[in-house]
Amino acid sequence: MSRVNVMQPWLGEEEVAAVADVLRSGWVAQGPRVAAFEGAFATAMGSAHAVATSSCTSALHLALVVAGVGRDQDVVVPSFSFIATANAPTYVGARPVFADVDPVTGNLTAATVRAALTPATTAVVAVDQGGVPVDLQAIRDVCDPLGIVVIEDAACGAGSTYRGRPVGAGAEIAAWSFHPRKILTTGEGGMLTTSRPDWAARARRLREHAMSVSAADRHGSVLAPPEEYGEIGFNYRMTDLQAAVGLVQLGRLPEAVARRRELAAVYAKAIDEIDGLRAVADPPWGTGNFQSFWVEVGAAYPLDREQLMTALAEAEVSARRGIMAAHRQPPYRGSSADLPVTERLTDTTVILPLFHELSESEQARVIDVLREESR
Ligand SMILES: *Cc1c(COP(=O)(O)O)cnc(C)c1O
Repeated sequence: MSRVNVMQPWLGEEEVAAVADVLRSGWVAQGPRVAAFEGAFATAMGSAHAVATSSCTSALHLALVVAGVGRDQDVVVPSFSFIATANAPTYVGARPVFADVDPVTGNLTAATVRAALTPATTAVVAVDQGGVPVDLQAIRDVCDPLGIVVIEDAACGAGSTYRGRPVGAGAEIAAWSFHPRKILTTGEGGMLTTSRPDWAARARRLREHAMSVSAADRHGSVLAPPEEYGEIGFNYRMTDLQAAVGLVQLGRLPEAVARRRELAAVYAKAIDEIDGLRAVADPPWGTGNFQSFWVEVGAAYPLDREQLMTALAEAEVSARRGIMAAHRQPPYRGSSADLPVTERLTDTTVILPLFHELSESEQARVIDVLREESR
């Protein structure tokens, strides 16, 4: 019996050829392919501007910088997220303030954000957790009148929709990830999208040491113009090798989402008939890409989450504990936030195998375990 992985990137010969072309061109650093990927990504996501970065974490950092978030300010974040969501505010000297999440979607809501606001709150980072679209407008309705910036952490969101548009399209600023665990991958990589030209321009400079003339432009001219470094920037560049892969992956995104939604529907149908299990699902306001297919193991199920993971492992099925809770990690243990939903979900959810090339028989093996153990 071969092992069923929990996730696998979907990569093919087209990506191989795209990388080979870049290598042959002799230009491997940030250059024309990064610019092309930015343009294509902005169009696909309905954003005015896109700035490629080295990761989503660096895009989140830049988003906070350009939004003016800094020292001694509070940034509301879900604890129920990958740790980078909480870490980014600390990079600018701000304090992450944890808000609880909705028990059904696993995302922040207008009510949980409102409960976490302090007089020092200047920003909120709203995550599309596992690809489930967050109800962004409801959160903006609370924050916009108070001058609080809402940053969308769309690390998992490529291909998900909100109110009939791609997620991120309704955000002033959003950050995306292309890590191999995400639906669209460039190995490592990220993107910042924004509706504001001033924020885009500053992020574009900051990701490249705050250089007034990009390296690509400098190398493109025989007599290089003098450059200036107007503030302290970062090296958060993406390479043309990564962008070439990203362009291919972006073209395949609709097919990737369709396949995941098909597999998710098969799981959902089976899980619906099993007492004590509840599967992640589309919220009323949008559609998910099912980047992470999580299941809540309730009290009515004979096994708890850990026992179910053991049963799956015995059938050579690799599953993962659900989304982490940042407030339980050493740097944030001092947080006094009361997060009952986050703690319940992080303790009772399991992520099942779901990836483009998951076969029917592999998925059936996973479902068989869920059914067998329910009896
Ligand atoms: C993966 C992830 C990140 C970090 O993305 P990197 O590209 O690895 O930096 C941030 N936020 C969320 C919600 C994520 O899932």
